[in-house]
Amino acid sequence: MSLATLDGSPHRGCGGRYALHGETVTLRISGMSAEVAREFFRCEKCGYENRTIEQRDLAEKAAAETIRAEHELLTPKAIRQLREGLGLTVAQLADLCYGTPKGIVEGWEKGKYLQNREADALLRSLTDRDTLERRAARAGVVLPSTEPLAETPSTTMAATA
Ligand SMILES: [Zn+2]
Repeated sequence: MSLATLDGSPHRGCGGRYALHGETVTLRISGMSAEVAREFFRCEKCGYENRTIEQRDLAEKAAAETIRAEHELLTPKAIRQLREGLGLTVAQLADLCYGTPKGIVEGWEKGKYLQNREADALLRSLTDRDTLERRAARAGVVLPSTEPLAETPSTTMAATA
């Protein structure tokens, strides 16, 4: 499965060999938790356990997916589409989320971080124009104009004609 596998390779500490095992662990992310399967290596001679970064990452990703589905949280793609649909930059969206750091919002959109339920509800609430305008006023965010751009040239043409 991976190049980083230790299966069958020697444990230098004792001269035994590692074998692949599985365990069920509960992982917590953003105040939510999920039970996932995680692989690890155990030395068959001395029992030393070794969990590689890759094994931890895979389990973290699985937990994030489980939690996202269970709590019906927005997907990274949905968050980006929501932001782009509102014509906001990442920095502006971060400001609208009670000044959440820009890097965190970027992480949400890249699936690197998982938004908690409060942040998810807040993101969804921004599709309501009144809520968006109220938050923008409070956060000092200048929203893009909702006026149709096509009107400006035609008005100009009418004036010059
Ligand atoms: Zn060993």
